[in-house]
Amino acid sequence: MNKKRTIALIAHDNKKAEIVEWAKANREILKNHNLCGTGTTSLRVREATGLDVKGYLSGPLGGDQQIGALVAEGKIDVVMFFCDPLSALPHDPDVKALLRIAVVYDVPIATNKVTADYILHSSLL
Ligand code: PGA
Repeated sequence: MNKKRTIALIAHDNKKAEIVEWAKANREILKNHNLCGTGTTSLRVREATGLDVKGYLSGPLGGDQQIGALVAEGKIDVVMFFCDPLSALPHDPDVKALLRIAVVYDVPIATNKVTADYILHSSLL
């Protein structure tokens, strides 16, 4: 079996239904990994899939920054970040900071569903 990874799940409000459907479709793979996420996203995925998803603060209240800090500490292997490119967000600086820190630490970060699929189904995972 592939190595157990720690995967962070984050979705902006307009993308939450999409990440829930994606998590349901990929439940059999995701159950083999450690999952965490921002507050509302982790709750929604947990309720829809029954998977154990550790929840941090909601994104606009610092959850993105918590995930970013974990990336910097080497505690997260992959970030699935379903971004909404069509809405203005109050925590846009936090979103940018998370993208930046993932690049700094060479941590894969998927910003849409198709990229999340490529990463989750990669033999490199
Ligand atoms: P949420 O945060 O999962 O708590 O809604 C996500 C975000 O907006 O960054």
